[in-house]
Amino acid sequence: MSRLSVHKAIWLKNPQATFTGNDQNAAGGVVVAGSEIVELVAAGQTPETRYGEEVDLSGCVLIPGLINTHHHFYQTLTRCLPTALNKELFPWLKSLYQVWQHITPEMLTTASQLAVLELMLSGATTVGDHHYVFSRQLQQAIDAQVEGLSQLGARIQLTRGSMSLSEKDGGLPPDSVVQSEDEILADCERVIQRYHQKGASARLQVALAPCSPFSVSAQLMRETAALAAQHNVLMHTHLAETEDENQFCLQTYGARPVDYLEQCGWLNERTWLAHGIHFTPAEISRLGKAGVGIAHCPSSNMLLASGICPTLELQAAGCRVGLAVDGSASNDCSNMIQEARQSLLQQRLRYGATRITAETVLSWATQGGADIYRRPELGQIAPGKQADLAIFKLDELRFSGAADAIAALVTCGAHRVDKLMVAGQWLIEHGKHRFIDEHKLMATHHRKAKILWGKAGL
Ligand code: ZN
Repeated sequence: MSRLSVHKAIWLKNPQATFTGNDQNAAGGVVVAGSEIVELVAAGQTPETRYGEEVDLSGCVLIPGLINTHHHFYQTLTRCLPTALNKELFPWLKSLYQVWQHITPEMLTTASQLAVLELMLSGATTVGDHHYVFSRQLQQAIDAQVEGLSQLGARIQLTRGSMSLSEKDGGLPPDSVVQSEDEILADCERVIQRYHQKGASARLQVALAPCSPFSVSAQLMRETAALAAQHNVLMHTHLAETEDENQFCLQTYGARPVDYLEQCGWLNERTWLAHGIHFTPAEISRLGKAGVGIAHCPSSNMLLASGICPTLELQAAGCRVGLAVDGSASNDCSNMIQEARQSLLQQRLRYGATRITAETVLSWATQGGADIYRRPELGQIAPGKQADLAIFKLDELRFSGAADAIAALVTCGAHRVDKLMVAGQWLIEHGKHRFIDEHKLMATHHRKAKILWGKAGL
């Protein structure tokens, strides 16, 4: 470590409680130097590292920055649209494609900014997106997303989605939002080469993500897997979200989704799947042996009545399990700490009150996400890890009288951070982003959303 970084070290001092995500104790806080955590401080002690600044965290809970593993940022423009309300997945998708086909690059840029800001204010420091709508005016959608996101400062995992089967080929989306397979593969390669960063300091990474098995061909699934291996990037798709999807796969491909995934070369550690609900025990075992990741999306799964993810079975089998808010048209918010609460409540229905704790769901929301994104430097508070930290102040009515601060964070319903740090840099202070005017962004976003609904005749 350079003398400069030691001189600039910050002691985040004496939080009321800390969730480190491991068995290390940080009751006296942590010391951050440069982009890393360099020391955990025991209760009542002072740091051994020479520090130049201290920040008092009394009355606060300190946790690793939350990691969202699945989203569709563009969907913030179509929250709670009457045309899509109260529907299950397939009819919900069909009604929304008619609106999404009109999204412009400017709308997508603003929607991505708003979604990331919303996630950051809820404690997220690393956020993933799955963008698969590439209509005629949105051929360079990934570029439009990147354009607006650098000023937010979060780590971004974009995925270059794809749809090649429209209604006329037996798929769900209209012709206007699908591309040819050559166009898709060429753009996948282009965005990886242009934007994908490597290493512990990476702020922007790119993965490849066909929308789902029912929206691309088997050949595109296979070629996507080959391209991802060639460039050493991750692969993502929706899978086993509903029983309808299992029936669709059986009828179309003569195989259940997991068999189909295996036939396409997708059962490996490069892959993570959104939802992962409707599996047989044998399928769970195969997914676990292959080391596949699962983005558990409890709010979306409850809102669309899709089912309950078998998280503990998947984890026991060897799968990596992370937490995700899913798109803002099936949640309809992008709040990671509230998603942790949703997960706790939903998963207790399946596994009972003793097996799912605040620590269980926080661990999915931190370490689980880091495992899915293959980022061992993220997701925990420990020396050598990146200084991506979320700090919640327990000074609202909802927390008054709470004894266990970590349990309170989840079950009393925390919803907004006081401070957020990414790679040692403060991005949110006193509940406000330092570089983004939240109200101005919201006004622009809502105006663009109304234009979009108008274009769709709503
Ligand atoms: Zn999704």
